[in-house]
Amino acid sequence: MNIAIIGAGPVGCYAGYLLAQEGHKVSIYENHAEVGKPIQCTGLLTKDLDEFNLDTNKFLVDTMHTIEVSSPHKKLSLHQKEYLVCRTKFDQYLASLAEQAGAAIHTQHSFQRKEGKELVIKNTKDNEEIRITPDLVIGADGPLSPTAKAYGFYHKDRKNYVGIQATVKGNFKQGTISTFFSNDVCPGLFAWVVAEDAHTARIGLGTLKDSRKHFDRFMQKYDYTAVEMQAGTIPVYHPKQQLQKDNCYLLGDAAGYVKATTLGGIIPGMKQAQVLARCIKTGDDFQKACKPIAKRLKTHLFIRNILDKFSDNDFDHLVEYVGQDKIKKILLVHTRENPLPIILKGAIKEPRFARFVKHLF
Ligand SMILES: Cc1cc2nc3c(=O)[nH]c(=O)nc-3n(C[C@H](O)[C@H](O)[C@H](O)COP(=O)(O)OP(=O)(O)OC[C@H]3O[C@@H](n4cnc5c(N)ncnc54)[C@H](O)[C@@H]3O)c2cc1C
Repeated sequence: MNIAIIGAGPVGCYAGYLLAQEGHKVSIYENHAEVGKPIQCTGLLTKDLDEFNLDTNKFLVDTMHTIEVSSPHKKLSLHQKEYLVCRTKFDQYLASLAEQAGAAIHTQHSFQRKEGKELVIKNTKDNEEIRITPDLVIGADGPLSPTAKAYGFYHKDRKNYVGIQATVKGNFKQGTISTFFSNDVCPGLFAWVVAEDAHTARIGLGTLKDSRKHFDRFMQKYDYTAVEMQAGTIPVYHPKQQLQKDNCYLLGDAAGYVKATTLGGIIPGMKQAQVLARCIKTGDDFQKACKPIAKRLKTHLFIRNILDKFSDNDFDHLVEYVGQDKIKKILLVHTRENPLPIILKGAIKEPRFARFVKHLF
């Protein structure tokens, strides 16, 4: 089949790799001049990355071992293996896999619009429009998905966070991810300090509104000076987002496949790419086949909706409860990609979690 993928982010490239391996004629169109640039991501991935059998030497910055969680008056430390990747190298590695499998990647090619069955793509280098009529179209074009909009199925109620991040020099705990939860620091999410090494960190936060104000305040509070800044849009998962219309499928951020608790989207998007490659082969219904991933994302959304009602006092209680060895043990076994077992086992071990049930109503 002749397949056009709009967007050479990690999810588009990984889908391109899988589909080219299956013998399809895959063309990936990317509006930027270079895959993986500019970076708009912290690059933290759970150990679920191991499932993809990628050559981590090609993009790994460090393997993290500790997550610190601070609320206004409490702090806990968890031992957890995480990968910190260079997003430029990660995206370029996935692009190279796609190319080696036979996919063609066209940078400086921006999807413009759909006219009947034709897609109009602008070669921004030569300022020329080309028209293509692929058998299948995959919108892997990020949170604002021009493809989903052109096909008329970008859900009208979707919301997006704005994430802001800086690279900062200073003294940091290598291998450590520090997170800060409070309504003052970062309403609706948390602020993060992720050490690249002992002297450099990626510091950021994301909110639905006023991100810049909260970010500047956080930077001032800890006296950080940005060496380099990034900002980007991050979608909130919407359970009613359709994943397929006509010959078009949505993947990754374009589909809103992002964990609403942490706004991590790379692993869910890549898992979804595997499901799509399988569905194209078997003819199975893509929306249905994505249900196991969607179920996990719904659980993240459920937790997000509770956290959004937390007072600072609630965050203190949460940190106190999670900081107990009996709960930490659960977190050693399960990653946040699949939060349901963590909630269920946690509720059995610590009945005081029930105090947060009031936020369901
Ligand atoms: C500050 C910040 C920190 C983050 N940290 C993490 C993290 O630590 N871990 C994690 O898992 N996730 C993180 N995310 C989210 C993560 O970046 C996304 O989930 C991930 O990039 C999604 O990949 P994707 O391939 O679906 O989309 P994208 O990476 O957005 O790629 C889409 C591509 O489509 C291209 N495109 C868009 N429109 C067009 C068009 N019209 N024509 C052609 N090409 C087009 C874009 O240029 C882009 O290259 C973070 C996001 C932000 C903003």
